[in-house]
Amino acid sequence: MGTIDGLPPLREVIKAHDLVAKKQLGQNFLLDLNLTAKIARLAGDLSACDVLEVGPGPGGLTRGLLVEGARRVLAVEKDPRCVPALAEIGAAYPGRLEVINADAMEVDVLGHLQAPVRVVANLPYNVGTELLIRWLTPKVWPPFWQSLTLMFQKEVAERIVAKPRSDHYGRLALLVGWRCDAKIVMHLPPEAFTPAPKVHSAVVHLTRLAEPRFPADEAVLNRITTMAFGQRRKMLRSSLKGMGPAIEAQLEAAGIAPTARAEEIELERFCALARIVAAG
Ligand code: SAM
Repeated sequence: MGTIDGLPPLREVIKAHDLVAKKQLGQNFLLDLNLTAKIARLAGDLSACDVLEVGPGPGGLTRGLLVEGARRVLAVEKDPRCVPALAEIGAAYPGRLEVINADAMEVDVLGHLQAPVRVVANLPYNVGTELLIRWLTPKVWPPFWQSLTLMFQKEVAERIVAKPRSDHYGRLALLVGWRCDAKIVMHLPPEAFTPAPKVHSAVVHLTRLAEPRFPADEAVLNRITTMAFGQRRKMLRSSLKGMGPAIEAQLEAAGIAPTARAEEIELERFCALARIVAAG
């Protein structure tokens, strides 16, 4: 049976280019092009967008993005072994795929992209989390991207979308909720990947808000949530002691019981507290 784009099946590509998966690069590849096209569709309408894809590997998701009509794809891949395989995809889609062989943590991609930009990636989870935090904390808001569609291990995906009073709720959920709408849009079992990882995965789709959901000074909010969740089981009047002697009154003024714990508090209350502390 032919593939959805007429290019060789990914198993053949991997064999032809000898792309034996490297553990240290977190290489767990998606080989089912119907699945990668489905992930591309979850990213939204791509026809008028540049897509930044991080970690294309042998190009399964890249092909999904191009089949689904992405205007252009900029693919940043650290492993030089993948570059010839990606070049074959580029030849089938003239002018629509640019590949940069670099570490996504180090390269500056902005000069290579034209707005609007959507980011799509299936990355090793540690790199993915670090990049997510960077994408959520640019010098100025709104950032260069409209949406992020990212594969994570399921536990990280749950931390990204967590609500108060759940074990997964913490600083990551607050940061995401402050600046984005976020939801889990797909679950994948280990067998979806080659080689299969030990854990389940999930795709998270984040859409940026034009402005943060509630006003607050970013540095103050960050200081408060770092302290509060640093000792998440303690009462806030104790975990936030380092904020100064007025903290108990400030908590009350923000509508937060000083005896409450960090994991019970909604984003809106943390932002109110940050405003009161900043006005201090
Ligand atoms: N997107 C492909 C897919 O879905 O089949 C590959 C996914 S694999 C989980 C992760 C990819 O990210 C690998 O190709 C790996 O070489 C690449 N990678 C790992 N760390 C990277 C980094 N710091 N910068 C760019 N690419 C990286």
